[in-house]
Amino acid sequence: MDTVDAAKRSEIMRSVRGRDTGPEMVVRRLTHSLGFRYRLHDRELPGCPDLVFRSRKKVIFVHGCFWHQHKGCQRAQLPTSRTEYWAAKLGANKKRDVRNCRKLARLGWEVLTLWECRLGDLDRLARRIGSFLHAESEQKY
Ligand SMILES: [Zn+2]
Repeated sequence: MDTVDAAKRSEIMRSVRGRDTGPEMVVRRLTHSLGFRYRLHDRELPGCPDLVFRSRKKVIFVHGCFWHQHKGCQRAQLPTSRTEYWAAKLGANKKRDVRNCRKLARLGWEVLTLWECRLGDLDRLARRIGSFLHAESEQKY
């Protein structure tokens, strides 16, 4: 295979793996099946939340454990090569997440963060999403 093909292939893989695959789709399908309607990736909100429930003023983030450095999670372990590079890069991601959550809170939005590694139990996930979206605004998660 030549390099053009390899580049082309990786471009295709990137688009396939884009934001509409994997953990986020699990959450989207489940939330939809629970009867909630939402917008996707609202760029006007800090952090461009994955699911946005405007009338409830709530948002859900679906976070990959590695990229968002899920604390204490196996999947969040840094690679053994170029460790400093990854520590800096992923540390910056983590800080950005914290900043965005604070900004959202200041604007009156409630945030639920769902981690990729915790999406396996769909019943539990459905209860969690349901109670977050049904709860009165003073309830904390
Ligand atoms: Zn995790």
